[in-house]
Amino acid sequence: MPTKVRLSNASLDVVVPAFNEAANLPDLLARLRGALGALTPRWRILLVDDGSRDDTQGVALAARAAGLPLRYVRLSRNFGKEAALTAGLALADADRVLLMDADGQHAPEMITAMHEAWLAGADMVCAVRANRDEEGPLKRLGTRLFYGFVNAFTRLHIPPDAGDFRLLDRRVVDALNALPERNRFMKGLYAWVGFRTEFLPYVPKPRQGGASSFSLGRLLALAFTGVTAFSNLPLRVWSALGGSIALVALAYGVWISCEHLLWGHPIPGWATLVVGLMFFSGVQLLSIGIIGEYIGRIFDEVKQRPVYLVALDTGEPT
Ligand code: UDP
Ligand code: MG
Repeated sequence: MPTKVRLSNASLDVVVPAFNEAANLPDLLARLRGALGALTPRWRILLVDDGSRDDTQGVALAARAAGLPLRYVRLSRNFGKEAALTAGLALADADRVLLMDADGQHAPEMITAMHEAWLAGADMVCAVRANRDEEGPLKRLGTRLFYGFVNAFTRLHIPPDAGDFRLLDRRVVDALNALPERNRFMKGLYAWVGFRTEFLPYVPKPRQGGASSFSLGRLLALAFTGVTAFSNLPLRVWSALGGSIALVALAYGVWISCEHLLWGHPIPGWATLVVGLMFFSGVQLLSIGIIGEYIGRIFDEVKQRPVYLVALDTGEPT
């Protein structure tokens, strides 16, 4: 594919997923207006309201009425951030799309540097956290374990500190939109589609108002989706383990038969039997659980339900 010449006035859609962000939006929108206005005349904000229960809608519509080029899309309920991003990417039609959080953690002032990296030829420009100082030790450990696991056992490399603050070229957006899966672990999908990616370090700001909606449980669920969507290793481990145990059992069987037949030893011990039985029942239940996890994913996929539903769409800003 011939690379198109990149024009600095190429159109730009800024996709902002928002869940209960009424308190943070006015500040973000004002800063975005400043940062984007200096960059290109052809920009708009695509605010995806992920079923907020506060006045996110009122704040967004007021900004739009006041002349901000903003398209407001409200999902029919809270579908989760990955679904909101998927909706934004599907609806954006500009030459490039910027994804950023609504809570002020992603500084609009970074956009100029991202824009320059795009102009220089990067298809995906990704802001990478320079530190995780604002996170607790438990979350940091979990993150390390998760990325260590996924990266060790898949052919993808998912950079641990690269989040959803990204500028994507149209080609990347089209590639992401063409992926049919319903279990959308976006960080994995960005890595899967590939393309020329540039990483820019940034220091995340503390969340402006409100609290993060990602509890430990929700992060764990996302991690499970990530592992099962990008690695078959958990399934293979059980085949290997099953095979090894069967071999050991066979060898042990041969050994006690010989003992009994050749030397007349009595066959010993019910204790070994009970311990063995309990251990392997546990192993079997665990492996069924892991298979179940994958079957659950397959179930989600075959139902073919849409990833999100739109309840309200103001359409293009006027
Ligand atoms: N978000 C969303 N749907 C959700 C949860 C979060 O659209 O169900 C948005 C939220 O409004 C914010 C971004 O996703 O713009 C990141 O969320 P949050 O700050 O809660 O996550 P964290 O920064 O802790 O990863
Ligand atoms: Mg946040």
